[in-house]
Amino acid sequence: MEWMEKELKTLAEASLERSLREHGTVSGLPGYTKRGGRTLLNLSSNNYLGLAEHPAIIEAMRETLLSEGVGAGASRLVTGNRSPYVQLEQSLADWQGCEAALVIANGYMANTGVIGALVRRGDVVFSDRLNHASIVDGVVLSRAENVRYRHNDMDHLRSLLNKYRDHRRKLIVTDAVFSMDGDQACLRELVALKREYGAMLMVDEAHSGGIYGRRGEGLCHELGLQDEVDIHMGTFSKSFGVYGAYICGSRSLIRWLVNKARPLIYSTALPPALVAGISKALEVVIADHWRRERLSEASRSFRSSLRAAGFIIGAGDSPIVPLIVGDNETVLRFSGALEENGLAAVAIRPPTVPDGTARIRFSLSAVHSVKELIDAADCIRTTGIQMGVLR
Ligand SMILES: *Cc1c(COP(=O)(O)O)cnc(C)c1O
Repeated sequence: MEWMEKELKTLAEASLERSLREHGTVSGLPGYTKRGGRTLLNLSSNNYLGLAEHPAIIEAMRETLLSEGVGAGASRLVTGNRSPYVQLEQSLADWQGCEAALVIANGYMANTGVIGALVRRGDVVFSDRLNHASIVDGVVLSRAENVRYRHNDMDHLRSLLNKYRDHRRKLIVTDAVFSMDGDQACLRELVALKREYGAMLMVDEAHSGGIYGRRGEGLCHELGLQDEVDIHMGTFSKSFGVYGAYICGSRSLIRWLVNKARPLIYSTALPPALVAGISKALEVVIADHWRRERLSEASRSFRSSLRAAGFIIGAGDSPIVPLIVGDNETVLRFSGALEENGLAAVAIRPPTVPDGTARIRFSLSAVHSVKELIDAADCIRTTGIQMGVLR
């Protein structure tokens, strides 16, 4: 095991070692997190709509916990498929306007399971270079050819589709909103290409579900493309504030996944209470349009305050706001200084993002007030000048 100490030392020297840092909730203040006895404004959570502490969701989970117990006891294909699952999947299909839906334990397992079920050796997956790691791992596990196209570069994708046109099955897969950059996929162009080349199209709405669309259905609905997307994936762990993931699509897709998606088949069903909590969260996501409006207002004012301060931030209008610093050591010091000043703003380093693009990834929530965010942007500016990040 000596190799491990050596490699850990190398990681630490490159400012690339990660560690688990304890955070506590601040009761009654959902936009904050507690660390080392201090209360910090939380600019690094995916609780976009502020549902992680929603009383109605807590109550739904509590009731089901009392009636159904703590665990499902088996995989869904055995005896774990309790009634909360059946109800939730019906509501999901209605919400998305598709034939059928399937709940899978989390987004990571949904992506690895679905990609593994759709393609195998001899097939090809076209994947945006900035897609989430769970998509990358799904392609690797599937043993299909992993063909990565330059981020949002549709000419590059087209040339690759041409090059691999004689492969058996083709799958194009993309994040709808990119998790570390906050920009959107070119969904219209992707739909046109998938039709032209007879490929399947899978869209991961982890960072757009709940946020876009009139009822929070996601970016595909916002753009009116929902019927063009073959495999629609999203999570309950971000906007929904809970945990878990869904796949929506045709009846045959869901039938296929029930038979072939290994993370569904070989893993215990989520606890029924959690599934009931997700159902309640779905009701809130659909009904509380004001949360989407507040989030979009928060994103606009935070983005424009940072730009006015002189920072160059990523494109788009999403609540994910990347501030690229570049160097790993500098980004860690910057994040540390922000924490000293009352802001939880975590540094994101390679391999999560490409080399040389270490960044602070701010992510906002509907529970943040515009005033809090403008003050935060001011604090980020002052700290940035002190650190030499902003000149
Ligand atoms: C977070 C995330 C996932 C994984 O979802 P979990 O439910 O947290 O496992 C998948 N895809 C994208 C784009 C994500 O950002």
